[in-house]
Amino acid sequence: MLSRHDIPVKLEVLPSGKLMACRTYEDGSVVIIVNPNHSSRVSNRRLSDSLLHEVIHALTVQAINNPKTEEERKFAARNRDMFRTFDKLFPAEIFSRNDMDTGYYILKDEKEFAAVFATD
Ligand SMILES: [Zn+2]
Repeated sequence: MLSRHDIPVKLEVLPSGKLMACRTYEDGSVVIIVNPNHSSRVSNRRLSDSLLHEVIHALTVQAINNPKTEEERKFAARNRDMFRTFDKLFPAEIFSRNDMDTGYYILKDEKEFAAVFATD
């Protein structure tokens, strides 16, 4: 899958102290940002897990935000349906979306649902 995509990776200090982020530009292009101040302080496992998570964002964010092809529309609709189903099963009032340790972060939004569903 990855051999069909050329996803740029850039080193940049992220203000929030986050390890990585996927940045999307208005033209639909994406870049994965790796925070060099943080990347040397985590395990290789955490680094690779985070990179895979951001790669999934890079591959899915355009389809979720602005699907153009029939394949992207189908993916976005199925992802939205699954997200809404699980969002109802685990209401935000009880299951916090901000707690990374419990796993309910997956229900933060449709983009996180796609990335976490594919990698965790
Ligand atoms: Zn994410």
